[in-house]
Amino acid sequence: MKKHAVVTGITGQDGAYLAELLLAKGYVVYGTYRRTSSVNFWRIEELGIQNNPDLHLVEYDLTDLGSSIELIRQAEPVEVYNLAAQSFVGVSFNQPVATAQITGVGALHLLEAIRLVNPKIRFYQASTSEMFGKVQAIPQVEDTPFYPRSPYGVAKLYAHWMTINYRESYDIFGCSGILFNHESPLRGREFVTRKITDSVAKIKLGKLDTLELGNLDAKRDWGFAKEYVEGMWRMLQADAPDTYVLATNRTETVRDFVSMAFKGAGIAVDFNGSGEGESAVDTATGKTVMRINPKFHRPSEVELLIGNPAKAKTQLGWEPKTTLEELCQMMVEADLRRNRQGFSF
Ligand code: NDP
Ligand code: GDP
Repeated sequence: MKKHAVVTGITGQDGAYLAELLLAKGYVVYGTYRRTSSVNFWRIEELGIQNNPDLHLVEYDLTDLGSSIELIRQAEPVEVYNLAAQSFVGVSFNQPVATAQITGVGALHLLEAIRLVNPKIRFYQASTSEMFGKVQAIPQVEDTPFYPRSPYGVAKLYAHWMTINYRESYDIFGCSGILFNHESPLRGREFVTRKITDSVAKIKLGKLDTLELGNLDAKRDWGFAKEYVEGMWRMLQADAPDTYVLATNRTETVRDFVSMAFKGAGIAVDFNGSGEGESAVDTATGKTVMRINPKFHRPSEVELLIGNPAKAKTQLGWEPKTTLEELCQMMVEADLRRNRQGFSF
């Protein structure tokens, strides 16, 4: 008998990679997507898993308790991975209530469904380094105090503590993975790395003049998403439920990533000016290829994230392998290929 797993948010970056991993490991995967006017399966199509007979696509909304119970009852999973969320920090400032309902209380719906239907099911909650926010220690580890700086971070912190509360109150095998930013060619274009690599590809191909960004000084610990979903799976195979940081222990600025991405496309840039007047110029043509647009600044910012994944290494045997340079190059090349083919996701 094959094991069943539920992956919420299969239309997202991590959902697609995790479904691919679980299918390769012989699971039957119930991947959830939202009913929208134009459902988008481009990621699972790009991975070539959309027609796998062991992949069942289930329409589901995390904000509905009844359908959460129904999902768990129908799928009969041994493992549930809750990856669905309103996951974009920028949007969470404009839609704080929706973010709380989806990203915060949504996780509670799944925990309740597990408690009521089958408390033996193992549960993974997609927690985030955004919970560290205004950081209280460098690098951040599992017991670094939290100080979220966005409605997204606050909602995720609620879901994180609920997972721990259900672990302690009902003996549910609930794991919280505090994952630092992880990127890939499947990353959404609203996030800074993919926005940069897609724009750099368009600039290289003459389809765009200038990339516009907000805070270039923000520092992030960026890893490769495909490796991070392996860490999620390992957490649910452990002997006991726990909380783990997955990160690379290296941090770079958004500016560094911009320069790396242009270099990856064969364009050398010089940065000029400062603050809102800062720009990047193509040294070969003298054209401005990046400038600041204040509309991309956030009401409050997370300035610096860097995580130490030592616990995950010792207890789960997990460690990141892909360097930021390799990751950036992989993303630039994927976006050059897509833009040459007229791909627009
Ligand atoms: P994505 O934004 O790519 O995917 C989010 C998924 O959630 C999408 O499939 C989306 O569906 C779905 N979703 C949104 N709202 C609902 C809802 N109301 N009901 C059901 N599904 C919904 O995120 P990632 O794959 O990058 O991240 C996966 C998880 O990990 C998220 O919870 C994110 O917050 C968290 N995380 C991500 C990090 C990262 O760097 N990538 C870092 C730390 C945590 P739709 O396509 O319809 O919008
Ligand atoms: P986050 O860490 O989850 O907020 O991931 P993002 O990729 O959305 O943002 C990473 C950092 O890049 C944040 O500090 C943003 O303020 C910064 N940033 C600067 N310009 C932009 C931009 O144009 N878009 C996004 N998404 N982020 C930007």
